[in-house]
Amino acid sequence: MLWNTLFLLLPVAAASGWWLGWRAAKKRTSLKCKNPPSDYFKGLNYLINEQPDHATSIFLKVLDVNSETIEVHYALASLFLKRGEVDRAIHIYQNLLARPTLNRDQRSETLYYLAQGYLKAGVLDRAEGLLNDLVNDADYALLSLKSLLNIFQQQREWNSAIDVARRLQKRDSHNYSVQIAHYYCELAEQQPTQSTAWSRAIKAALSSDRNCVRATLMLGNGLLDLERYPQALNTFKKIEKQDAAFVYEALPAMLRCWELMEKPGQAMAYLNALMTHSPSLAVLSLYAELGARVDGSDEFKSQLKEYVLHYPSLQGILSLLKVEGVCQSLLGDRALTGAVMSAESSALNYRCNQCGFQGHSLHWQCPSCQTWGQVRRVNDL
Ligand SMILES: [Zn+2]
Repeated sequence: MLWNTLFLLLPVAAASGWWLGWRAAKKRTSLKCKNPPSDYFKGLNYLINEQPDHATSIFLKVLDVNSETIEVHYALASLFLKRGEVDRAIHIYQNLLARPTLNRDQRSETLYYLAQGYLKAGVLDRAEGLLNDLVNDADYALLSLKSLLNIFQQQREWNSAIDVARRLQKRDSHNYSVQIAHYYCELAEQQPTQSTAWSRAIKAALSSDRNCVRATLMLGNGLLDLERYPQALNTFKKIEKQDAAFVYEALPAMLRCWELMEKPGQAMAYLNALMTHSPSLAVLSLYAELGARVDGSDEFKSQLKEYVLHYPSLQGILSLLKVEGVCQSLLGDRALTGAVMSAESSALNYRCNQCGFQGHSLHWQCPSCQTWGQVRRVNDL
């Protein structure tokens, strides 16, 4: 009810803006103003009766464009944008630009609004053309570069995004090095692994942000593919220092390296060390699962018991019962153990530090706020 009332008032608010604009125009130009009031009221009538096409054409005809009235044109365009009528807003901006009376600042401002209108309408090539022109205008360079960056990200044009982000870095206080590194990672992902272009993109990512976990993961996985296991492990181990929140992302590949090297003891020692300085239920689960397969010693059992008592979880208790050989028939029931596993893994275990978005998987760019490198695994302890 309240919304309906507000919605009805919107045209009235815009119309009153037109009225003030028309009065200001008339006052300033005195008797020179030859706009007939009857047309003006006809326009008002159309607006109030929800016939915006007729209203717009009449207003555009009768209202001079000058420093006072241009805001009224913007207000009407903004009203249409809020109502999702992008085409009508674009029509108003185009009409303004056709006026020879616009001064340089007004022209730039209108061009910027028109570019935003095209962006909203999804006409990205036209928006890009206008913004490229506005980049040379000192007052609109920063805003235009930010909009261009948005367009290139949407179109996945990573070379252009890198170029624009570098130009922004020189003007803006925001640090773009992390997202530039991700753009290079995106470029690397478009190349065949181990190709020259792939290696160059990963090197550039790490040179933009030496703590770029994503580039390190790609490098480690590349070495794993080449069966260079010790080098792959040394690469993955760097992640702990780059950003400990991402250690878990490398663990499956690291365990694979140790398995292929037939060095389960090294894997157990690494997981044990992680449980000491970066404990998590996910790591505990890997430790219990691997230990049950490859160890089974009393030392392992007592260590696992200590962890489970310290960090209680259903999965941990199940693992403990398994290695202790308790209730084997019950634990052999896959449906039962599967239900326990899914009960614990159904939680949303990734969250964006920037906007709070939660999900089940890792996104390098947050799907909600578009920030890079801020979606992390939630500490499950
Ligand atoms: Zn976010």
